[in-house]
Amino acid sequence: MRVNYHTHTVLCGHARGTEEEYVKAAVEGGMEILGFSEHCTYLMHPHATDKPCLTLQQLPEHIRAIRAAGEKYRDSIRVHAGMEVEYFPETFAELANILRDQGVEYLLLGQHFLDSPLGQRTRNEIYDPAILTHYCDQVIEGMQTGAFTYVAHPDCILFLGDRGLLKQQLRRICREAKACGLPLEINLLGIHKQKHYPCTEYFELLAEEGNTVIFGADAHQPERFLNYEAETKGKALVEQYGLHLVETVPFRRF
Ligand SMILES: [Zn+2]
Ligand SMILES: [Zn+2]
Repeated sequence: MRVNYHTHTVLCGHARGTEEEYVKAAVEGGMEILGFSEHCTYLMHPHATDKPCLTLQQLPEHIRAIRAAGEKYRDSIRVHAGMEVEYFPETFAELANILRDQGVEYLLLGQHFLDSPLGQRTRNEIYDPAILTHYCDQVIEGMQTGAFTYVAHPDCILFLGDRGLLKQQLRRICREAKACGLPLEINLLGIHKQKHYPCTEYFELLAEEGNTVIFGADAHQPERFLNYEAETKGKALVEQYGLHLVETVPFRRF
């Protein structure tokens, strides 16, 4: 990949590799722009979830390490410090202020829970259409804040009910993204690991609604940058569905 804004590190608790190891692998893989997007602390109940994440205490050192690695490899690559953030209405504004003040340059919207870290986990099996609707409402509200640079895996909800209903609801996200001028991600980790996303209905919607799409490696190991298989599959899908793919995206101020 030439550009990737979706990268984790060992600090999130479920990935491998330091900031520098990712930058080094990205350079080896021929990348020109690399953005880090660690799962960020949820501010409320930071230890209440089984999904670990970067804490605010770790944030300054994380930013420093990103800057140092970017400086070391500055002749080969441009490195950015972003964050993958949940949109929780109660605490989002406060968290965004903290992240901005600490030097975070952009935010990706990644909705893994609803309402709070204690809320419904979107990757658990969901049959209730009301939860699906609520998920879409929350992602849409997140986009409407104007704070997010793009939406990571918008179709990550594991809804096992009617596929027509899933498509109908995800269409609302696609339409709002278009109205907000936001790219939607084709998550290459999902393709790499053959997860339930990106799903067929999502590709159909991207084509039907004419969304702009962007690849996100969602790297959890540095060597992901040396393996082009998922990107090749992603490119074939982009071609198959005739999607409008962008490589870079301007950062939204938040
Ligand atoms: Zn995510
Ligand atoms: Zn991620």
